[in-house]
Amino acid sequence: MADGVRWEQTACPSCGSHDEEEFLRAPGDDGVEYRLAKCRRCAMVFQNPRPDEATVGLLYTEDYPQYQAPARKHSMLRALKHKLLGHAEKTLADRIPVTPGGRLLDCGCGAGAFAAEMRTRGWDAFGMDFSPHAAATARSHYGLRVVEGSLPHPEVPPGSVDVITLRMVLEHVHNPAKMLGAAFDAMKPGGWLFVAVPNLAAWGFGAFGPAWFPLRLPWHLLHFTPDTLSRAVATNGFTIDTVATKAHTRWMGYSVDRARKSRPRWWLGAARVRFFRSVLTNWTQWRGQADELSLLARKPDVKATEMPVRHAA
Ligand SMILES: [Zn+2]
Repeated sequence: MADGVRWEQTACPSCGSHDEEEFLRAPGDDGVEYRLAKCRRCAMVFQNPRPDEATVGLLYTEDYPQYQAPARKHSMLRALKHKLLGHAEKTLADRIPVTPGGRLLDCGCGAGAFAAEMRTRGWDAFGMDFSPHAAATARSHYGLRVVEGSLPHPEVPPGSVDVITLRMVLEHVHNPAKMLGAAFDAMKPGGWLFVAVPNLAAWGFGAFGPAWFPLRLPWHLLHFTPDTLSRAVATNGFTIDTVATKAHTRWMGYSVDRARKSRPRWWLGAARVRFFRSVLTNWTQWRGQADELSLLARKPDVKATEMPVRHAA
């Protein structure tokens, strides 16, 4: 556990209720056991106690994986893969129709790869990250414009952005409503919101429990299901378009390795074989119970809603 981090008891970060029950105790990457609570009112699962907002940054050291620029070999392989297969990685974000020159904010951009990719598709993309180290990497590696900090932010005026992407961000924040509300304000009417978080309703969590890799303690303060995520987004004014899950073979591999250490079972050995792991991963996706939860939503178009209702003659 990082030195200097202060821990606090919290009410439910989603609805403010103090009525909670213990949901799970699970080891973090540092071997320390952390406690997850479940709100009895809204079913949100959250870390409690949790690192406080003033000191949580101490957990994000410069070696945090999302802050690293891609290795040269890796990016050459990726470039080759893109050339041969096109944009192989499909996400719900691909469904957003590209408006050339439209403004896209990747909030929590890390080292900037996603925003750079969106720029090549025609978006006027920029990034935001609270880590000065990540922001510096994204600027120097991709020449991106990166705002340091979080939403709400004075450099992102109301109604100025067409798309906001929150990829693996919302599970890290103390106040999700504040961030989603700020995203809503920053967006133009009709704008798109893309959110991706780990899926607590995944088959993997049911199978691996405390060893499930995407728990990522102590960094993840919130643990969403399709229900709790949809509610959080809808309560902040958005209209939900699509909710889906997405499988990650690598995450499955990490979960299998962690589970083998804590409670060895026969099928975990088979899951270490790449082929079986891949079949298992795809099966969770087919069932709609994969490890990543993603959501596409829109800010209602004021012009459309203000149009007089036409009645059939
Ligand atoms: Zn609650």
